[in-house]
Amino acid sequence: MKHLDSQNNKDNSIRKVYSNDICTGCGICESVCTKKAISIVVKKSKFRPSVDNTKCSNCGLCYKVCPGVGVNIEEMSKAVFYETANYNRFLGFYEKCYAGYSTDSLIRQSSASGGLISQFLVWLLEAKYIDGALLTTFDKNYPFYVRTYIARTKEEILASKGSKYCPVTLHEGLKELKKAEKGNYVIVALPCQVHGLRKLMAVNKNIRDKIYGIFSLFCSGTQSFKYTEYIVTQCGGNLKNLEYLAYREGNPTGMVAKGVTFEFFKDYGTYNKPLKSTFYPKRCLFCIDMFGELSDISFGDIQVEDNKLVGDGLSGLIVRNSMWHSLLKDAQKDNAISLVQITEDQMLYKRSMASVKKYRNASFVRLFTLLHLPSPKYDDMFDVRINAKVIFKYIYMRTKQFVGNHKCLWFLLPKIK
Ligand SMILES: Cc1cc2nc3c(=O)[nH]c(=O)nc-3n(C[C@H](O)[C@H](O)[C@H](O)COP(=O)(O)OP(=O)(O)OC[C@H]3O[C@@H](n4cnc5c(N)ncnc54)[C@H](O)[C@@H]3O)c2cc1C
Ligand code: SF4
Ligand code: SF4
Ligand code: SF4
Repeated sequence: MKHLDSQNNKDNSIRKVYSNDICTGCGICESVCTKKAISIVVKKSKFRPSVDNTKCSNCGLCYKVCPGVGVNIEEMSKAVFYETANYNRFLGFYEKCYAGYSTDSLIRQSSASGGLISQFLVWLLEAKYIDGALLTTFDKNYPFYVRTYIARTKEEILASKGSKYCPVTLHEGLKELKKAEKGNYVIVALPCQVHGLRKLMAVNKNIRDKIYGIFSLFCSGTQSFKYTEYIVTQCGGNLKNLEYLAYREGNPTGMVAKGVTFEFFKDYGTYNKPLKSTFYPKRCLFCIDMFGELSDISFGDIQVEDNKLVGDGLSGLIVRNSMWHSLLKDAQKDNAISLVQITEDQMLYKRSMASVKKYRNASFVRLFTLLHLPSPKYDDMFDVRINAKVIFKYIYMRTKQFVGNHKCLWFLLPKIK
C-alpha cells in the first residue's frame, strides 16, 4: 500500500504533504518547528505551509504532528477514551448525546446554532475551571480572514462565537498557548485539527500540560476564501471594501456582509445549499471524521422534535468522557445551558454527510491507495468497494471544485447541481 511515508525518504518534512495537496491548512506543523523554518501563507485561497530549505534540519517533527497524512483514529480513541463504554461507528466513543442551547437568549440567537459552545466556555471561565480558550475570530483589518487567539474574558469568548466557513489556521493561537503561563485551556477546532492536536500533545509536553479539553465542531468540509468572494460578489459587494462579515447570524440565520458601498443579508440555506462542496479543498474528499471522534466534546447542528427544546437555535453535542459529562451537568444545574438527552439515532437523523464520509470518502481513500496515489491513511475504515460509480463521483467532485477554484468559470456554477 502506497502512502506518503514511502515517498522520497530523504525528505522528512511536510513538503510532500502540501505538494500532494493533502494539507488541511491547520498550521500545527509551524508550531513544532524549532528551527522556525515553516511559515503559514495564503496560497490559492487556502492556508498552506511553506518550508525554508536553508533553515530546515530535516528532523521530521512537523510530519509527525501533521493530520493531513491521516491518523490512527481507532488506536488513538481507544487510548484516550479507554473508560468510555459506548461506541458507535459513525459517532465514535461517547458517554451521552444531547441537544441543547444557551439559556441566554441573546447568545442563543447570535451564535452558530444554539450557542452551547460559547455559553459553556463562559461558564467554565467564570467557575474558574479554565483560564482561557483558543478560539477563532474575524481579523479586524481584513474582515474575511479569521485569526486564532486565546480568549481570556467573557467578552472575548462571545466575540468569537459563530461558525467561520473559511480556512482557519491554529498556528497563531498555538504560539500564544506555548508562551502562556501554566493554566487550563480549551481548544475549539475542526475534526482534522483535533487529529493534529492529539498528535501534537503526544510530542509536546508544554502544550499537553495546558490543554484541559478539546472541543470539536461537526464538519462536512471547509470552504476556501473563494467561497466568501463568490457570495459577496454575487450580492453586489466586494472583498476589498468589506467592513463586517458573519456567515451565520440573526434569525433567520444567514450571511451578513457590510462594506462601504453595500450591505446585504443572504439566508444560510439559500446561499450554502447549492454551493455545498464546490469550494471544498481536495483534502476534505478524503476525510472520514464527521463528528470529531478524538475530541472531549463535539458540537454541531441538530434537528429533533422535543417540546423541551422549543425556540430559536439548537446545538447537538456528543460528550466522550465522564469528567466533561459532569462539568456539562454542573453548567446545566447552574442554569447556564439547557440540555435534553437524545439517542444515537436522533443524533444521526438526517445526517447524510456522516455516511458520505464513512463510505464515499473512504472509497476515495481506497481508490487512491489502489492507484498508488498519495492519500491520507487511517487505521479504521468501513469496508468499501471500488467500482465505476466511485471513480465517476470523484471526477465529478473534482470538476466541480475546479470550477469553484477558477473565477473565470464561475458563470457555470448556477448550472452545476
Ligand atoms: C467549517 C465548519 C463546518 C461545519 N459543518 C457542520 C456540519 O456539516 N454539520 C453540523 O451539524 N455542524 C457543522 N458545523 C458546526 C456548526 O456550524 C456550529 O459550529 C456548531 O453547531 C456549534 O454551534 P454553537 O452555537 O454551539 O457555537 P458558537 O457558540 O457559535 O461557537 C462556535 C465556536 O466555534 C469556533 N469556530 C467557528 N468557526 C471555526 C472554524 N472554522 N474552525 C475552528 N473553530 C471555529 C468559534 O471560535 C466558536 O468558539 C460546522 C462548523 C464549521 C466551522
Ligand atoms: S523537518 Fe524539522 S526543521 Fe524541517 S521544517 Fe519540519 S520541523 Fe522544521
Ligand atoms: S500540519 Fe497542517 S498545515 Fe502543516 S502540512 Fe500538515 S495539514 Fe498542512
Ligand atoms: S471535512 Fe475533514 S479535512 Fe475537511 S475541514 Fe472538515 S474535518 Fe477538516
